[in-house]
Amino acid sequence: MPKVMVVGAGAVGAVTVCKLAQRPDLFPEIVVASRNVTKCQKLTEKHPQARIIPEALNADDVQATIALLQKHKPALLLNLALPYQDLPLMEACLQAGVDYLDTASYEPPDRPLYEYSYQWKYHESFEKAGIMAVLGIGFDPGITNAFVAYAAKHYFDEIHYLDIVDCNAGQHGRPFATNFNLEINLREITQPGRYYENGKLIEVPPLSVSQDVKFPEIGVRKAYLIFHEELESLVKHFPTLRRARFWMTFSDSYLMHLRAFMNVGLTRIDPIDYEGHPVVPIKFLQKLLPDPATLAPDYKGWVSIGVQLRGVYQGKPRTLFIYTNIRHEWAYADCGSQAIAYTAGVPPAVAAELMVTGVWKKPGVWNVEQLDPDPLLERLPAAGLPWKVVVDYPLDFIDVPE
Ligand code: NDP
Repeated sequence: MPKVMVVGAGAVGAVTVCKLAQRPDLFPEIVVASRNVTKCQKLTEKHPQARIIPEALNADDVQATIALLQKHKPALLLNLALPYQDLPLMEACLQAGVDYLDTASYEPPDRPLYEYSYQWKYHESFEKAGIMAVLGIGFDPGITNAFVAYAAKHYFDEIHYLDIVDCNAGQHGRPFATNFNLEINLREITQPGRYYENGKLIEVPPLSVSQDVKFPEIGVRKAYLIFHEELESLVKHFPTLRRARFWMTFSDSYLMHLRAFMNVGLTRIDPIDYEGHPVVPIKFLQKLLPDPATLAPDYKGWVSIGVQLRGVYQGKPRTLFIYTNIRHEWAYADCGSQAIAYTAGVPPAVAAELMVTGVWKKPGVWNVEQLDPDPLLERLPAAGLPWKVVVDYPLDFIDVPE
């Protein structure tokens, strides 16, 4: 089996490395490259049974990445760095002829724009080079896209309504913390909420629309409409969708802190002058708050993420819910992680298996729903993420007739 190379050794990357390290039959050598090489070295120590090769890399430097790819000749690069690195890493993979995957769409650092256009532009050149890129294979995006593809393949003739629902009901005992990279997370949440309806993208003020949603094992929680990148690819690839929305729960205490940070300008992404030094407030805030990876030992409780769907099957209306529930404690027992990093970090390792074994082999740049969801979802429970389908589910969102 060939080598793989993981770029990024943060909260999510550490989980992916943990899952790759559990499969030496498939991944006998794992190169882990990140800006801070000591984080890569710690992963080598944490998984002594695996052959992990730590490397220092600035992934913004295309030539440096190409040199590392030429040195190690991996079959696949797994990008678990930040969305800013998507384009330089795709460019390096293209020039070195290496397959690629990531878990978040590219964002220009100075504009929190969530759109796949930058990465979709690489489709033809990847196709010509005979290499494959899988975009957004975390949980959401990622498994949520696969859930929709699975429903379309096995349960519907047409899907009309999609609501993705995401609830972290866990407690970590800190007054305020994010569950993955704070800068990336707060850029997303503080954006206007956006959703698709009848072919149009509709915008509402940030966190201004909410609805009660009932989550398995958790109960009813208030969920807020936010924009999430998988909506863009799903409405493109499932044009029968009349409406597609994304909902995430936040506690009152979380929102109280977040609104205070927004009100005083601490979530700003433009540099301000502080005594002659440029300071980006959101990066400063990130330095003050806990590193998401450090929340894991104390985190307790459920996470539930799923898709609620409505459409028709054999001429009759049908509703469906596909979801995963896991506990933070399970993620900690398996990989020393909290469940959000775990749900994001397990799917890239499963996708890596499919890509290096040729189960997913299709030159070009693809979103997850364009690939066969069956082999991915079949392997997910054994990798630590169980999931369930409920047909004729009583949806939380029947506000328009079928
Ligand atoms: P972290 O900040 O914990 O880790 C990011 C890692 O990338 C760090 O090791 C960092 O290095 C490294 N890095 C950053 N910039 C560079 C660079 N220029 N060159 C090399 N390495 C770099 O982030 P998370 O682990 O929380 O998130 C990782 C990714 O996962 C993000 O893109 C996020 O959006 C995505 N994600 C996806 C989810 C999904 O379900 N689809 C859910 C959650 C997250 P250093 O330590 O030196 O800073």
